[in-house]
Amino acid sequence: MNQDYIIPNEWSIIEKGFNPDTVKASESLFSIGNGAMGQRANFEEYYSGPTFQGSYIAGVYYPDKTRVGWWKNGYPEYFAKVLNAPNWIGITVTINGEKLDLYTCSKVDNFRRELNMKEGWLSRSFDATLQNGVKINVYTQRFLSLELDEIGVIKYAVTPVNTEASVEFSPYLDGSITNEDTNWDDQFWDIQHVTQNDHQSFLQAKTMKTHFHTCTYMESQLFLDGTQQDIECVNTKSAAFVSNSYKKEIKQGQTYTIHKFGGYVVDRNHDKAELVNAAKRTLKKAKDFGYDHLLKLQKNSWARIWETADITINGDVKAQQGIRFNIFQLNQTYLGTDAQLNIGPKGFTGEKYGGSTYWDTEAYCIPFYMATKDQNVARKLLEYRYHHLDKAIENAEKLGFKNGAALYPMVTMNGEECHNEWEITFEEIHRNGAIAFAIHNYYRYTNDFSYIPEKGLEVLIGIARFWHQRATYSTAKGKYVILGVTGPNEYENNVNNNWYTNYIAKWCINYAIENITRVEQEFNSDYQRISGKTNISNSEIEKWKEVADNMFFPYSEEHEVFLQQDGFLDKDLITVADLNSSERPINQHWSWDRILRSPFIKQADVLQGFYFFEDEFSDEDLKRHFDFYEPFTVHESSLSPCVHSVQAAKLDKMDQAYTFYLRTSRLDLDDYNHEVHEGLHITSMAGTWMSIVEGFGGMRVKNGKLSFTPRIPEQWEAYSFTINFRNQILRINVTQNETNFELTNGEEISILVNGDLIVVTPNNLVTV
Ligand code: BGC
Repeated sequence: MNQDYIIPNEWSIIEKGFNPDTVKASESLFSIGNGAMGQRANFEEYYSGPTFQGSYIAGVYYPDKTRVGWWKNGYPEYFAKVLNAPNWIGITVTINGEKLDLYTCSKVDNFRRELNMKEGWLSRSFDATLQNGVKINVYTQRFLSLELDEIGVIKYAVTPVNTEASVEFSPYLDGSITNEDTNWDDQFWDIQHVTQNDHQSFLQAKTMKTHFHTCTYMESQLFLDGTQQDIECVNTKSAAFVSNSYKKEIKQGQTYTIHKFGGYVVDRNHDKAELVNAAKRTLKKAKDFGYDHLLKLQKNSWARIWETADITINGDVKAQQGIRFNIFQLNQTYLGTDAQLNIGPKGFTGEKYGGSTYWDTEAYCIPFYMATKDQNVARKLLEYRYHHLDKAIENAEKLGFKNGAALYPMVTMNGEECHNEWEITFEEIHRNGAIAFAIHNYYRYTNDFSYIPEKGLEVLIGIARFWHQRATYSTAKGKYVILGVTGPNEYENNVNNNWYTNYIAKWCINYAIENITRVEQEFNSDYQRISGKTNISNSEIEKWKEVADNMFFPYSEEHEVFLQQDGFLDKDLITVADLNSSERPINQHWSWDRILRSPFIKQADVLQGFYFFEDEFSDEDLKRHFDFYEPFTVHESSLSPCVHSVQAAKLDKMDQAYTFYLRTSRLDLDDYNHEVHEGLHITSMAGTWMSIVEGFGGMRVKNGKLSFTPRIPEQWEAYSFTINFRNQILRINVTQNETNFELTNGEEISILVNGDLIVVTPNNLVTV
C-alpha cells in the first residue's frame, strides 16, 4: 500500500483536507465518465499547482508518429493516442478582482471531495480565504449525464462568508490543450471556429490526420439564493478560447450559483456540418430538463445499473468500497451502446495506453459485461473484432502470412496495430487466442450460438490460419514449435515455446474446426457463404490438425509442471520472498535486462492458461502449478492478482485469495503500484469482479448450467452478487453459514451448488 487518504465508505470515495501533493492522484480517483466521454477530476476553477488536465471523447484519437531508436521493417507507422480534448469544465472564479486558486489561497479549510458512486456525481466543498482576505464557502457538483450522453453539468456555488464581495464567474471553453505523452510535440487539434450566441458558446475543432470533427459547447444559468438571475454576459473570444463572464455584487451570506451545461458532439453521431445545431439541440433538451431533473435522471440511470451489477460485502467497508469503485469505473467507461467503442486500460482517466483496445477486453472485461448486463453488450464487444477482421488479415499479410490468416493487433483504435514496442507489437501474439476464447466464453455463457455462424466463425478461421502458419516444425523435437514470442508475462521477451501461447494456439485450431463442423451441419447456408468467402477446405483443415495434434509443450519432469517457456529452469530461481521490498516494483528499480534474466513473472502466464482452460486440468495439476509459479510472480501488471485470487479460492487457500482480492480491488485506491496519478487501471477492475464472483462465489458454467462453489473470507460477514444468466436474474448471498439463491426475474432455473442440482423458482429463497 502506498497511500491511505481515501476515507472508507460503502458508496462514496471521499477525501477530506486539501493537500496539493495528492491532487494528481485524486484527479484520477475521482474521474467521471458516461461511456461517451470522460474526464479527470480537475478543478473547475483556476489551479496553479501540479495538475494533470484530462478530458477525453470516446473514439477520438490521433495517430502519433512512432518514435523508436532504430526503425525496423514492419513497425507500425503510428502510436495512437487518446486525445486530451478541449476543456469545457473551466470556470474562472474571481472574488473582488482576485482569481480563486486553491494553490495560492491564504487558507483552505473543510475541503471535502466526494465521488458518489450510487448516484453518479462528483462534488467538492471548501472554505477558502483569498489573499485579499475575503473568505468564501464553495460547493460544486458535476456529473456526465447517462441520459443525454453528450452533456455534462456543473453546479458551482459561492457564498462570501466574512464580507460582501463582487463575484465573477467566467465559464469558458479552451481548445489550447495538449497531451502530456506526445512523441514529437505535434499539435493534435485544428481549432476551426469559435462562436458565441447570447449565453451559448461553441468551439469547433478537427483532429489533425484522423479528421474527427467535434464541437465543444457550453451554456450557463445564474442563480442568487436559488432564484434564477438575468445577468449581463461579457463575452471574450480568441482563436482557441471563448468565455462568458457573469459578475455580481453578493452580500455576505448570499449564495451565487452557476449551472454550466457543456460537453461534446462528434461526427461519429452527427453530420459534421451540423455539429453546432446538434449541440444546440442537446443544450435545449438539457435546459428543458434543468439541473435538478437531470440529476434525478442520473440517479435513476445509476440505480438501474446497480440493480444487476452491485456486489455487497458486509463487515469490511474497505472491501465494499473497493468492489463498488471497480464496478462504477467500468460502467463509466463502457456501457455497450456503440459497437465502434471499446474499453481502454485507463478508460477516460489518463493518457497512458492511449485509450486503445488491448486483449484485456476479451480476457478480462467480457465476463463482467456478460453477467451484469444484457448479452447484447458482450456481443457488441465481439462484433468490434469482427469489424476489424479485414484489418487483422492485412496486418498478418504485412508480416508475411497469407491465405486469410488474421493477426489481431495487440493495441488498436481502428483495427490497425498501433503500438511501437516490437516485443509487444510483434511478439505478444497470444492476443489472437483471447479473441477466439471470448467467442467460446460468450457462447458458453449466453447459449447464443447464432453469433458464430453470423460472424464469429470467420474470425475463428482467420485466427486458426494464423496459428497454423506461425507454428514451425522442429525436427529436433519432432513437434511443432512457436518461436520468438512474448507471453502474457512481459518480463520475458522473444522466448521460444511459451506454454500459454502454444496451448491457446492448439486450442484455437481445435475450436475453429469444431465450429466449422457444427456450422456446416446446422447452418448450412451460412457455411456456404463463409466457405465461399474464405475458401476453407478439408485438406487445409487436415493441415491445421497436424499442427494442433503435434504441438510442443515444455515440461519439467522434476517439478511436474509445464514450463513457462523453453529454458525457464536455467534461471537462478530466487523467489519474490527473497526480494528486498525497497526494490519493488522491480520495473521501477531494475534495468530491463536484469528483469529479463530474472525468474520474476509480471503477471499470470501459465496460470492464465489454467484459468481459461480450467476444465482441462485436475485440481492437483492446478495446485502444483500455482505453488510453483506464485512464488515467482511479482504481480506488476494490474491484470495479475485477480487470476491468482480466483485460483487461490478454488484451491481453498482463502487467506491468499483474500490478499490478492484486496490488492486487485484497492489497487488504485491504495496506489499499490505507485502510479495512480497517471490514471486508473480500468480493465483489471473487471478482474476484481471475477475474484468475487468466480473466485469466492465459484461461479462457472458447466454443461450449460450455472454452477457455484461458494466460499467466504473469514474477514467478511456476508457478501452478495447478482447475475444476469440468459435473461434470468439470480441473486446470490453468501454468509459464513449458508448461501441463499433468489431468482428475481425469469422462469425457474436449475443450478449446481457444490456439485448438487437445486432448482430456484421466482422469488423463493433457496438456502443451501
Ligand atoms: C500488461 C498487458 C496489458 C496492458 C494493458 C500491460 O502492463 O502486461 O497484458 O494488456 O498492460 O492493460
